[in-house]
Amino acid sequence: MKHTLPPLPYAYNALEPHIDSRTMEIHHTKHHQTYVDKLNAALDRHPELAERPLDDLMKNLATLSIPAADKKAIRNHGGGHLNHSLFWTIMGPRKEIDQALVTDIEKSFGSISEFKRQFTDKAAAHFGSGWAWLVRDEKGKFKLYSLPNQDSPVLKSHAPVIGLDVWEHAYYLKYQNRRPEYIEAWWHALKLLP
Ligand code: MN
Repeated sequence: MKHTLPPLPYAYNALEPHIDSRTMEIHHTKHHQTYVDKLNAALDRHPELAERPLDDLMKNLATLSIPAADKKAIRNHGGGHLNHSLFWTIMGPRKEIDQALVTDIEKSFGSISEFKRQFTDKAAAHFGSGWAWLVRDEKGKFKLYSLPNQDSPVLKSHAPVIGLDVWEHAYYLKYQNRRPEYIEAWWHALKLLP
């Protein structure tokens, strides 16, 4: 089973002016495609893993009997594939509020604005490439953190809910070094929350 690039569920320019069309196109067709290709290349060396769902491989990465370099490739490129596949679907040209999620966030963080403040801090403070995450842990409890590179929360058996890509490739063309401006604009592109 080859992994494939999922189609973007909207046009490349659909998130303008918050995220520009050129960034979306390169991000999807070049960056995400490369994660898919390199994940497939690593799995091609281990046909016994071909039918295992990616989530399952990520959760059990430490126990797989494969060379360290291939584990690293699955961690990086499998993570990149999982992370971006989620990222495209939580954004959209129109708000599609997830009311159950809103209620849960209000219960855990007090308010949506307080959640956004804490999440923004994690995303802004993350040093170098990586992602800010809202996840549910093994007990279903929300956790907020950032992870480096393409590390997926699934590596920790956490379920990603909201992820924000803070690699420069996600914002540099429009925002250059101004990551805080990108984060501020991104809340408009995130369709799940008001
Ligand atoms: Mn990215």
